[in-house]
Amino acid sequence: MASFFETKIEFLKGVGPQKAALLNKELNIFSFGDLLQHFPFRYEDRTKIYPIARLNASMPFVQIRGRVRHFEITGHRHHSRLIVYFYDESGEVELTWFQGARWILKKIDKLHEYLVFGKPALYMSKLYIPHPELEEFPRDIEQLLHLQPVYPSTEKLKSRYLDSRGISRLQKELLIKALPNLRETLPENIIEQYNLMRKPEAYRQIHFPENQQSLAKAQFRLKYEEFFFIQLRLLKLKLTRFEKFRGQVFNSTRLLNTFYKEHLPFELTGAQKRVIREIFEDMKSGHQMNRLLQGDVGSGKTIVAFISMLLAIGNEAQAALMAPTEILAEQHYRNLQKYTRPLDLNISILTGSTKKSVKNEIRDQLENNKIDIIVGTHALIESDVKFNNLGLAIVDEQHRFGVAQRAKLWKKNQGVLPHVLVMTATPIPRTLAMTLYGDLDVSLIDELPSGRKPIITLLRFDRNRLRLFGFMKDQIKSGRQVYVVYPLIEESEKLDLKHLMDGYESLSRVFPEFQLSIVHGKMKSADKEFEMKRFIERKTQILVSTTVIEVGVDVPNATVMVIENAERFGLAQLHQLRGRVGRGAEQSYCILMCKENLSNEAKIRIETMVRTNNGFEIADTDLNLRGPGDLMGTQQSGLLDLLIADLGKDGKILQVARESVKKLLEEDINLTLDKNRNIRDHIKNLNKRIINWSRIS
Ligand code: ADP
Ligand code: MG
Repeated sequence: MASFFETKIEFLKGVGPQKAALLNKELNIFSFGDLLQHFPFRYEDRTKIYPIARLNASMPFVQIRGRVRHFEITGHRHHSRLIVYFYDESGEVELTWFQGARWILKKIDKLHEYLVFGKPALYMSKLYIPHPELEEFPRDIEQLLHLQPVYPSTEKLKSRYLDSRGISRLQKELLIKALPNLRETLPENIIEQYNLMRKPEAYRQIHFPENQQSLAKAQFRLKYEEFFFIQLRLLKLKLTRFEKFRGQVFNSTRLLNTFYKEHLPFELTGAQKRVIREIFEDMKSGHQMNRLLQGDVGSGKTIVAFISMLLAIGNEAQAALMAPTEILAEQHYRNLQKYTRPLDLNISILTGSTKKSVKNEIRDQLENNKIDIIVGTHALIESDVKFNNLGLAIVDEQHRFGVAQRAKLWKKNQGVLPHVLVMTATPIPRTLAMTLYGDLDVSLIDELPSGRKPIITLLRFDRNRLRLFGFMKDQIKSGRQVYVVYPLIEESEKLDLKHLMDGYESLSRVFPEFQLSIVHGKMKSADKEFEMKRFIERKTQILVSTTVIEVGVDVPNATVMVIENAERFGLAQLHQLRGRVGRGAEQSYCILMCKENLSNEAKIRIETMVRTNNGFEIADTDLNLRGPGDLMGTQQSGLLDLLIADLGKDGKILQVARESVKKLLEEDINLTLDKNRNIRDHIKNLNKRIINWSRIS
């Protein structure tokens, strides 16, 4: 039997089949429950009435109360506008309409008092209010002073009277019926501990807030609850896995010691050592490791990954490293070869473009234990790739794999699951990590190798180009190498490619004495490799490219990164690109070439880059600018589709919710205690709904 909340939306008074179809299509609202969870995204403060003299252009929407002194219509026909001179005891302000003057004129009467709602703005340093709402001042003003919810709506819905106010009317209709049906979903002790508003009251206040305080309490309650159930799922998964899944025990450190004593190319940082210890603890614990390795660009994740592989290989197991793109896989392969060669280990690469004959051979070798390390792309998780004994699976995510794909790698072994280490290419904000990787343990490399000089980042414009060329010349003359990166996106691919080629040609003309390489995604793999190699071997001094060099490339002698049209890149990408320099002992530079007039958002991005080298700080700014969905790509957005909480702003609430879930599970992992009955019932309901959904689609 369907519950009240699963009732189809068309059965709500005032909806009917046509509006229901629109609500389905435009807002994904199918049921009573969906509508109730269609929360306002902001509230207009109609609790106050301001004296006109106190208005200024930085205020949001405000209410004023007064009378019309006189009005005039200026301009002709299409350009005409209505100006109403509106006053109260404190002063006067102009109300302006560019359309619909006739309709307003009908309403205006100098004898009446009015309530006006609008956003003060400036025109030629004079304050005015464009297109305000204007209504006769009501008798019962107390009724009117309130916080007005603003709901997301669409043009199509608005044309059917389902604008924000229309939706609010529906909420009112629904709420009366819904309140008696709303069950508490959180346990009593938690409600008391955080002094949470109860569920029915929270729904009432979120849709019809009495005042700012009760609204804030309702928001906290609903956000807390949303985070609570996500964290419950993740932490429960983590604990169950820990209890259920055995892991191979890797004890022998012989191979590892050989590498440490004889081939380690540099002293490890304290953070690298700590993280390696954490990984080793997992890998010999008898439980399957599920760990996230986070570290800023250049913090040295590769060597940590490799040393972890050695522990597996030294214990008769194999290791796999999966990367999101071919280029990245190839780069990992090249980097790892430096380490494997002196140890005489077998390493291979398997990607989508591996030839069939080679592929078959690799598959045989994997099954017969002739390969110690396999690097690759998605090709690794195809079902016909089998291992003799996969001991460690490392996933280099770069935000692109989904939880489901990760799971596939685990299933590669018949018997015991491989240990899993997930690396992210760029830092991700804590709140996102707790959500997307909330089921994993976390290791953090929070220290860069010593001797690195912080990269100097500069903003420059076209008019500075000559000086830029001079600077590049100086750097190259003193033995350094330079990257010049151009944007290339699919939508403007042809034009972008032309800019890249033009740039390449003009640099060739400016620097006839230097050698240039060029690399972009449209080139054949072999050609790319050839050009890249010439740069790595210092045969060329300037590498002109698109973002294909974004990840992995490691040329410590390169000290200058010039990014053309830097305003077109996202923050994460800029930070990744900058991470290509500053890898050696020399001072490095990142030069952001921008057009002169930047949008506000671009300005924030560029200023952030200039201000800080800290990847975690940059990631936080990025999250606030773009929102979690865009930041992480669509594949994982399911987990990030929050109804009310905001991962950019509600980190504290998330933290609190995660802590309380942890405590709860420590005491009652199977949720059998009586005090956790509410949770149990709610999860049952949720699961039921998921099943219903899958039947519909
Ligand atoms: P990322 O974390 O971005 O993947 P890499 O693993 O590519 O970083 O390391 C960046 C560079 O720093 C590489 O050239 C690597 O050899 C070097 N490196 C890593 N760890 C150290 C260290 N402890 N001391 C000196 N150089 C290091
Ligand atoms: Mg790396």
